[in-house]
Amino acid sequence: MSTTVPSAAGVPNPKPLAADMEEWDEFLKGRYREGRSKEDFRVYDKQAQPGVAEFYRLNHENQTVDYVLGKEREYFRLQKGMKTIWEAAEFLNTLVDDSDPDTDLSQMEHNLQTSEAIRRDGHPRWMVLVGFLHDLGKTLCLYGEPQWGVVGDTFPVGCAWSEDIVYHEFFYPGSTVDADPDSAGQHAASGSAARKGNPDRNVPEYQTKYGIYEPNCGLENVHMSFGHDGYIAEVMKPYLNIEALYMLRFHSFYPWHRHGAYDYLANDQDRAMLPWVLKFNQYDLYSKGHAKPDVAALKPYYDDLFAEFLPERIAW
Ligand code: FE
Ligand code: FE
Repeated sequence: MSTTVPSAAGVPNPKPLAADMEEWDEFLKGRYREGRSKEDFRVYDKQAQPGVAEFYRLNHENQTVDYVLGKEREYFRLQKGMKTIWEAAEFLNTLVDDSDPDTDLSQMEHNLQTSEAIRRDGHPRWMVLVGFLHDLGKTLCLYGEPQWGVVGDTFPVGCAWSEDIVYHEFFYPGSTVDADPDSAGQHAASGSAARKGNPDRNVPEYQTKYGIYEPNCGLENVHMSFGHDGYIAEVMKPYLNIEALYMLRFHSFYPWHRHGAYDYLANDQDRAMLPWVLKFNQYDLYSKGHAKPDVAALKPYYDDLFAEFLPERIAW
């Protein structure tokens, strides 16, 4: 299957849906390999595939306060219908791009590899559940959201952008996608647009350290760039414990959980939850590559797990 992403903000994206998501996952895995320094990150980012840089350019240019508030209004009301977890997972599975020979792992298998790795290590059942659920918000793609609005590292909008956000420079205009001569050449060859920057840079209130927020207001009161994390956390809010909800809501907030950025917006609850988010992140990044899970064999365990925490059908 090779689904074409609908044009977002007038930007056509002819790539198969799953290909960019896989690229992003692979990029993260490499970027956060054990023991990398700040300088290593920069070097690693420069070597990223042109598609990854282009993906971040679109993400950083388009995730504005207005965009985020609009998407929150649209999706956080959960008006996309009632589905069981299996139905949502099957729905998400239609994203798999089987034309890509390197990507033979379906979304369902990534869910199960993550949850099974958590289960093997003897973590509580609610955390196993989080492993299965954490990427189900990617169904946003199937509602027509562009990839840059579904996956990618997340960051607060409405206040100054941390330099710890990957490709931080893409928030600002520039003559080419990347100042690096080599990759600039690559981008020019692939016909990429020049950097426009994010329009919020022209709103003085959004460019101060705290922006529209109070110091240490707590991350739950912060509007994060829109994506699959926030959406799945809203879907699960009535049912799961706070640790689980932090894992869901902030699993792609790398600037905070990996770099320590935005601590000035965090409160004591956020700091208490950070170790859980980090614990989860290990499984998200590094559980790939184990044997393919046998969905049919695992189904009875997961039927019980879902029934323990969730009603049969939930609002999406
Ligand atoms: Fe994710
Ligand atoms: Fe994931």
